[in-house]
Parts: sequence; C-alpha cells; structure tokens
Amino acid sequence: MKHKKTMILISELIIIFVLLACYYFIFWDKPRAMDNEAESTKQDNAAGILKNLYTAKQVQIEDEVGPKIKAEIEVSNNIVNIKQDIFLKDAVDAIHLYIPSYNALKITLKNVSAERGLLNIIRGDHNLKVDFEEKQDKIHLEYEIVLDKKRDTLSYSDNFIFLTNFLITPAVYKNGAPLFVYKSSFGDPYLYDINNYDIKLTTDKRLQIYAPGKIDEQIIGREKITVFQAENIRDFPIILFRNAEVHTEKYGDIDIYYIDAYAAKDYVESALQFASSNIGPYPYKELLVVKAPLLQKGMEFSNTIFIGDDCFDNQEVLKRVTYHEVLHQWFYGIIGTDQLNEPFFDEGLVNYLALMLSNSQITGYYNPKLFQLQLKDYSSKDEYYRLVYYDSAVYFYTLHKKMGDDFFKLLQRIYAKGKFSIVYFDEFLNYTKEFLGGN
Ligand SMILES: [Zn+2]
Repeated sequence: MKHKKTMILISELIIIFVLLACYYFIFWDKPRAMDNEAESTKQDNAAGILKNLYTAKQVQIEDEVGPKIKAEIEVSNNIVNIKQDIFLKDAVDAIHLYIPSYNALKITLKNVSAERGLLNIIRGDHNLKVDFEEKQDKIHLEYEIVLDKKRDTLSYSDNFIFLTNFLITPAVYKNGAPLFVYKSSFGDPYLYDINNYDIKLTTDKRLQIYAPGKIDEQIIGREKITVFQAENIRDFPIILFRNAEVHTEKYGDIDIYYIDAYAAKDYVESALQFASSNIGPYPYKELLVVKAPLLQKGMEFSNTIFIGDDCFDNQEVLKRVTYHEVLHQWFYGIIGTDQLNEPFFDEGLVNYLALMLSNSQITGYYNPKLFQLQLKDYSSKDEYYRLVYYDSAVYFYTLHKKMGDDFFKLLQRIYAKGKFSIVYFDEFLNYTKEFLGGN
C-alpha cells in the first residue's frame, strides 16, 4: 500500500514537472519578448548567432579568383548605407576603385580607412584613388546612397528596390594601368574584374530579397537579415520587393527565379541551351530573371537579367531581348569585355547570337568606324545603337560566314581560356587568327 502511494506521488511529480516544462517552452518566450530590454538581449543573441554563422561560412573557395568584397548593407526606405571592406589578393602601395552608382546617383563617401594608414585620397566622380602609407591588402569604405523614384536599374518604387551597379569595386587594370570609367546616359559604363562577395543585408522584414548566393535569412524584431556569399562574379545585384509573382524552376543544375517574368521562361531556356552547348557551360547555380520598369529594353548583371516591362507586350521583342540578356551571361559575365572602350564587342556578338537564335535575317554592311569608337565618342543614342548593336552584329555575322563551323570552336576556345577574365578585342582577333591564319 505504502509502495502504491509512493508510485502515485512520483507520477504526480512527473506530471507537474512536464506541465511546468511545457508552460516554460510555450509561454515563457512571449512575455519576455514584450520587454524591450529582454528583446534587445534576444536580438543581440540572435545577431551573435548570425554573426557566427556568417563567419563560419567564410570558407575559402579553392578556385576563387580576384578580390573579396565584404559588405554590410542597410536599406531603410530609399536610403542605403554601406560599410565595406575590400580584401585584395596582394598588398599594394595604392588602389584605384570605381564608384559605379555615380552613373545614376550621387553618393556620400563617409569614411575611407586602412589599417596601416592612408597618404592621400583622390576622388573623381566615378573613380577613386587611395595612396597607402605602406603596402597593404585591405581597405575600408563607408558610404550612403539615396535612391530616386525613377525607371532605372538603381532606384526604388512603392513595390521594388533595385540595387545594381552600386558597390564600390576595384578598378580593372590593362597592361599595368587602370582603366577609368565615366558617366554615360546610354550604354553600359561599368567595368568589373571577377570579384567574390560576402554580403550581409539588413532591411524591413516585409521585403522579399533575391541576389546571388543566398545562404541565410532571419527575421529579428522588425528587421530581416539576409546573408549572401557569391564567388567568381563581377557585379553584385540585389532585388528587393514587397509583392511579386516568383516562380522557381530548375534548368539542369541551375535554379532559375522568375520575378514577375515567367512569360520569358521558354526564351530563357532556349538561350541557356544554345549558349551552354555552343560556347560553354553556365558555371553558376542561379539565374534571376526580373521584369523591371526600365527606360531601356533590358540589362545584364552577374547571375541576373532585367527585362523591361514594355517588352512583355510583344512576344517577338520579349524573345529577342531575353535571348540578348541571357547571352550576356557569357559575354559580360563569364567572359568579361571592356564595355567602355570597346562597347561593340560584347553588344555586337550577343546581338548577333540572339538574332541567329531567332532566325532573323541579317543584311547589309557594317561601318568599320565602330571599332574605333569608345562609349563616350558616340554623339547620340541612335548612333550608338546603330553601330554598337546592329553594325557590329553584321561584323560577327560576316566573320561567322567566313569561318563556318570554326566560329563556334572559336567561342569555345575563348570560353576555355578567357573564362572569369576580361578578353579584349585585340585578343579576340588573335584567337580568330588561330583559325583563319593571316586571312
Ligand atoms: Zn546588351
């Protein structure tokens, strides 16, 4: 009897313990979160966890080329604050940097520093030169960008925030000297070597966020913190929005995210298939396809294409623009070109391949003046489009006719040797000579 009583007592104690434990797990967290001080402790803990995660994933990728850009970006309405470190491969006496966002907006540079001291900062609008006191391989930058409401690739609206060509990046050097960039109301006045990005983005928790290499996303209080790690790309584009129809589809090993752009699916896949089999494989895991209100028809970024919203009204235009922008993933993205000094190279080649893929007729002659003109030499947008897009496509068509099937062997060789670097037009001509000899 005594034994039975003891058993009942033990059972009651166990039940009370289990009920207390349930109460603790179910209810304890909520009242604690109401308390501001406790909330901030919780946030600190969560931030600590995220920080550890962020640090833990800083794994060095073996075949990573180029510098690492580590940035903490805070977006609040139309204000973007960036704290950024650039880690170079080698220590240098001085560094040249590009400020690509200056093409669309003004930025406020708040702080430039380096651990071993700075001697001098020379600021042009788009170009920045920093002389170091002694050789070093790291620079710290802090700056603010205020976005405008306009149809542009770096802008905000009630629904979207587009952050593209906005991070300060190391300048491209050709034969030991930096290439300088400048403002242009047309064309693509952007130039990038291959970079690696570690990005931590803090935004309003209601925003959806897409960018290359998302590795974590957490909501802490009213904020959403998203962490990205992307290797061997050029620029780093981020798409933020409140409402959009997103379709995710696999194409081979590639995850394609269609953001309000599912109507372009067949064209995206045709272009990927064409370029993968005729030039070389798409070496990334993701492709973002975004319908965007733009003044131009489309725009290419690393792992991302924008297609102007107007293009979706006409299937022929949608097809041509989608082909064009997807093919830029090969000529701009995987194989870089000098878009300021030789704009005809990637635009003409991509346009020719897009026209070919659409079975469009190509006729006429090209004006050889196009090989001499830099972006800034064009007197009007019309002249730019005529020569850089059409005449240059006629040049590549003529070359294809002359080379026959060797034309694709040429592109495959350039892919094999030039992947993740910049190929200049004189180098392209040397590659053609391997097939054509002196002809
Ligand atoms: Zn283009």
